[in-house]
Amino acid sequence: MTKTIYDSVSTLPYVGEKRLEALHQLGIHTISDLLSHYPTRYEDIQEKDILEIGDQEKVTLKGNVVSEAVISRFGPKKNRLSFRLIIDHAVIAVTFFNQAYLKSKIVTGEEIAVFGKWDAKRKILTGIKILGIRSDSENSDFESVYSANKAIKQSTILKLITEAFKLYQDYIPEVVPPELRIKYRLISHRDAIDAMHFPASEEQKNQARREVIFEEFLLYQMRMQIVRKKQKAMGKGNSINYNVTDLRKFIETLPFELTKAQKRVVNEICSDLRQPIHMHRLLQGDVGSGKTIVAAIALYAATNVGVQSALMVPTEILAEQHMESLSELFDPLEVRIALLTGSTKTKERRIILEQLANGELDVLIGTHALIQEGVFFSHLGLVITDEQHRFGVNQRKLLRDKGKDADVLFMTATPIPRTLAITAYGEMDVSIIDEMPAGRIPVKTTWIKPQNFEKILEFIEFQIRKGSQAYVICPLIEESESIDVKNATDIYEKLTAYYGSRFQVGLLHGKMKSRDKESIMENFKEKKIQVLVSTTVIEVGVNVPNATTMIIYDADRFGLSQLHQLRGRVGRGDKESYCVLVANPKTENGMERMKIMTETTDGFLLSEKDLELRGPGDLFGNKQSGLPNFKIGDIVNDFGALEAARQEASDLINQKDFLSNELYQPLREAIGFDALEGLDFN
Ligand code: ADP
Ligand code: MG
Repeated sequence: MTKTIYDSVSTLPYVGEKRLEALHQLGIHTISDLLSHYPTRYEDIQEKDILEIGDQEKVTLKGNVVSEAVISRFGPKKNRLSFRLIIDHAVIAVTFFNQAYLKSKIVTGEEIAVFGKWDAKRKILTGIKILGIRSDSENSDFESVYSANKAIKQSTILKLITEAFKLYQDYIPEVVPPELRIKYRLISHRDAIDAMHFPASEEQKNQARREVIFEEFLLYQMRMQIVRKKQKAMGKGNSINYNVTDLRKFIETLPFELTKAQKRVVNEICSDLRQPIHMHRLLQGDVGSGKTIVAAIALYAATNVGVQSALMVPTEILAEQHMESLSELFDPLEVRIALLTGSTKTKERRIILEQLANGELDVLIGTHALIQEGVFFSHLGLVITDEQHRFGVNQRKLLRDKGKDADVLFMTATPIPRTLAITAYGEMDVSIIDEMPAGRIPVKTTWIKPQNFEKILEFIEFQIRKGSQAYVICPLIEESESIDVKNATDIYEKLTAYYGSRFQVGLLHGKMKSRDKESIMENFKEKKIQVLVSTTVIEVGVNVPNATTMIIYDADRFGLSQLHQLRGRVGRGDKESYCVLVANPKTENGMERMKIMTETTDGFLLSEKDLELRGPGDLFGNKQSGLPNFKIGDIVNDFGALEAARQEASDLINQKDFLSNELYQPLREAIGFDALEGLDFN
């Protein structure tokens, strides 16, 4: 059998069942995976003049062992291992506490690098760890540090990588085509891999990074472009050939005139709907820009030709709200519409599912309940997801699978920078609503310290007396809904005590029964409740235009985009609105974020800042967000490379000889033949 980089790691010596399992846990299955298990960081082991090292500074010192390691015991289970190192002409003492097992690594006369804390007065290094040095790269000034786990040690990983590189270095494919390698001055992938693991200098490390990042981005962009090209070529998506006059009439019944941006995106979407292609479109629009109505128009178009449609949203509250507003719009039109969520009663659910399968329902609105087993549409033609960033890749796919040829529209209020959207959702078309309905007044935002609690309460009272309502969002404690609930309850009680019988305060959190949530929301909408204390369950989508005040506690715990979403709950009408951030940030970064919030209401600008300050992972919440999880490339810092890779991928995919040219063989192989199958290059 010929050796390839895609061989299993089990072909390496010293990889038994246990080690294989441990490697799998790290996501390493093939030699290629192992070789691209890059160091998470490098420890700089450049020699330093010991006179220049500050007292108690952590450093790595490299020298020759001049005395045998001695172990002395003091007290039960306590021991000290000591030896001497000669560095240039100075001799220093090294001590490790309770690491007697290191003795075998300390060989008189051999060179060793020790990372530890320096005691400048006594010239003693208290060792933290010994850095292994690869035997055949004596000149290396860097020690690679890998992510490891309990079952497999750093040093084992390094050993395996060294071994794999020895055995497979001649089989490392050069995936990036030669012409691009020249154009971008990239070193070979073989050399890059070598230098990633065993860099000899900073310069070499950087060259290596450039190459592996470009390869990673290029592969990703190629796969994206292929998906896109296939989708375009399929051509047998359904055609929703609605009656234009009917649609116009429907738009005329709306309570307001569409903004220019809304008209434009409606045109883009409708043109997709009419054509016999699969629509696969992302609709982006800042909070409050009016996406719901755009969705409603698309849903209407679908019902106009008698195909079913589904609208999936991330929370029950939002589902309820959409149900209410769409029912109102569709009521005179005899559109049959239903709501399906996790708390739909069994009997009602059965009826809905029956009607759905029989084609007696036109529009189904719901939460994740829509993608559960047992939900069958008779002729699903259009799928819309709202707040799409809240859904994982798998959930989106499940929904799409419910209707084979269905058109798909993803709506998102997270104003993903356009550039990033192209990357993250590279296989989609993007429509953007970049304009707010007329008459909106930007929300006035202030930042105050928590000590001024009374002031806030007075401020809320002042606003309510003018006839408006307020939200109070409670501290967000990481990942713990029950603590969130406690915080919310505390604040709720404080406010209730303070306002007494003057106002009604309501409490809303994720642990409540959905019937109770509904009735609280209902009362808030009907102004029976003036102040709504809530956890972040209301973050997405809620629309109560009479609410003009938003108080956010511990605002520094939120990312800019989330704050922007929360703030977007107010300023939805034509009244002056306010957002008060209550926070006492401890970090520069936290203060910076508070300041930016008070300075701009531009969601796109905020999301770009967020990306800068917190990185894409945080912005999108989780790994399932659909954003690619690159091994080494960073979509923010390496954005230039990402863009270049996108452009090159697009050019390559449109090249007639892409499938036949010998030069692209390694690239095709890396993309995978499954992915390439069915591609038409004519
Ligand atoms: P989002 O894009 O955040 O989902 P919504 O669709 O909830 O925003 O719309 C926010 C508010 O703006 C709603 O009250 C909606 O009725 C109103 N709205 C939407 N489009 C217009 C428009 N063209 N003119 C005036 N108000 C509008
Ligand atoms: Mg919305």
